[in-house]
Amino acid sequence: MRRGSWRIRILIGLAIVAFAFIRRCSNQEENPYTGRVQNIDMTTEQEIAIGLQSAPEMAQQHGGLYPDERLQNLVDQVGSRLVQNSIASETPYKYDFHLLADDRTINAFALPGGQIFITYALFSQLNEAQLAGVLGHEIGHVIGRHSAERIAESGFWQTLATGASVGGDMGSVVSGIGQNTLLKNGRGDELESDDLGVLFMIESGYDPQEMITVMEILKAAASPNRVPEFQSTHPDPENRIEKIREAIEKYSGR
Ligand SMILES: [Zn+2]
Repeated sequence: MRRGSWRIRILIGLAIVAFAFIRRCSNQEENPYTGRVQNIDMTTEQEIAIGLQSAPEMAQQHGGLYPDERLQNLVDQVGSRLVQNSIASETPYKYDFHLLADDRTINAFALPGGQIFITYALFSQLNEAQLAGVLGHEIGHVIGRHSAERIAESGFWQTLATGASVGGDMGSVVSGIGQNTLLKNGRGDELESDDLGVLFMIESGYDPQEMITVMEILKAAASPNRVPEFQSTHPDPENRIEKIREAIEKYSGR
């Protein structure tokens, strides 16, 4: 390739990188509920729409909803109690709590906008306060806008990697760094959700110590060749327990 066209490629690459940074700066928003500044490029209405749209498919992937209405209602009641007694009630999100029929996969998760799920496999191991801990953690993901933040962050790294590969064959290096950063941020999300979960438990009159028991249940459910999904994307339980203890101390005195 001629020298001149290399120069053009580098310039285009730099322009793409600059674009990625400018967009990232203009997407900085302070989360009104956590106070944390985040990179987000969708509205709360879009989050709610995405969650509602994906909810049926999510349920289907876990064998549909659990057929027993009474247990379904219990999950609803505990979830609503957490929402009503916390800042969650002041958010525009529409909270829905679903018990999934899956009795093998120990898991709980939240879609953006307030659709929250727990599998029967996890539910059946918990008492009410522990259930509140898991649901409170998931409400924390919704309020923390973690999915929307991950989507914006991965868009940023993709654009950056495009710029780097156009400008100088550095695309795979940049996307490698991006993946690591996303993983690390993912762990930060879990700790923030644990922290909020503890706060919501206290505000709703549940014993926050039960959140530590939840971690122990998750740890016990993990075997060398089978890590529960809830944990595979999560930080090491010991580290989480330590942070949960700190959160209990921080919020108990209020
Ligand atoms: Zn989580």
